[in-house]
Amino acid sequence: RSKEKGGNRCTFYNPIMDIDSFKRFTLEKDLRLAIHDNKLELYFQPRIDLKSGKIVSAESLVRWNHPEWGMLSPAEFIPLAEDTGLILPLTHWVELTVCSLITSWQAEGISYVPISINVSARQFLSKNFIQSLKQILQETQVDGHWLEIEITETSILENQKLVESTISELKTLGIKVSLDDFGTGYSSLAYLTQYNADVLKIDKYFIRDVTTNPSNAAVVKSIIHLAQGLGLKVVAEGVETMDQLTFLKQYECDEIQGYLFSKPVPVTEFKKLLAKEVLIPSEINQRIETDT
Ligand code: C2E
Ligand code: MG
Ligand code: MG
Ligand code: MG
Repeated sequence: RSKEKGGNRCTFYNPIMDIDSFKRFTLEKDLRLAIHDNKLELYFQPRIDLKSGKIVSAESLVRWNHPEWGMLSPAEFIPLAEDTGLILPLTHWVELTVCSLITSWQAEGISYVPISINVSARQFLSKNFIQSLKQILQETQVDGHWLEIEITETSILENQKLVESTISELKTLGIKVSLDDFGTGYSSLAYLTQYNADVLKIDKYFIRDVTTNPSNAAVVKSIIHLAQGLGLKVVAEGVETMDQLTFLKQYECDEIQGYLFSKPVPVTEFKKLLAKEVLIPSEINQRIETDT
């Protein structure tokens, strides 16, 4: 599962351990330490409501600045964390960090927004997922309404009964549930009606060329329509251009997330974004004009 980027990597023959499994081995050891020593970082990417132009929530995304390899993308270490079980303490750290931040925002009296947390299949289906989340909410005195849990199709195809009961327990806690990367997995439409999710996030794959590829445009229009029919909020991921924004506005997508508005940013920068008022479309228009 570990995807290796191309480029100039050493390809000498090592009879004991090849370079990939060596890197994997040290990464696992380093990740364990990084979680333990509180060396991971959490970035935040805002989600913007297309009607009001305001930030209405944000996704938390983990970052790891490795002492030797520099900033690693989650795509490089989340699969490793899933395979080794380190995903459990990692997610615990994310949940605790998010809830502690919310507590501090509350204390500072600033106006903030709900935060979403990505949860891997393995974690979502693990026995004490709900129990541990409940405990964090209790310890930090955070109301579940400030949280959203993002799951992907792989999580929900497996054990239907368990998925159903986990989702309903989350809802009892006031926590919203979103279906992440929608459209790229098995995309069974049955689970959309079966599970009581709140939000559907259209995968950025479909957004990338939505204005130039008529098939993807048709898919996006249909997903928006479908979500609306089912009473789900619909979010477009990976929005990078004004043209994409215009398209999504025209077909009444609810919210957007993407580089057009902001990349994922550290918490200090996220707080600055929160402090601003209405930001689209005029300010984004301006930003695009001044950037070029
Ligand atoms: P995701 O949950 O689908 O998160 C959205 C990804 O799209 C993020 O990548 C974000 O930086 C990227 N993105 C947002 N806007 C744009 C855009 O306009 N253009 C492009 N090209 N990309 C955009 P990131 O942060 O590298 O995370 C990748 C994946 O790693 C996430 O996909 C999620 O599946 C996983 N991940 C990240 N943080 C966590 C975590 O705390 N726990 C778990 N279990 N998984 C995580
Ligand atoms: Mg996500
Ligand atoms: Mg996604
Ligand atoms: Mg993804």
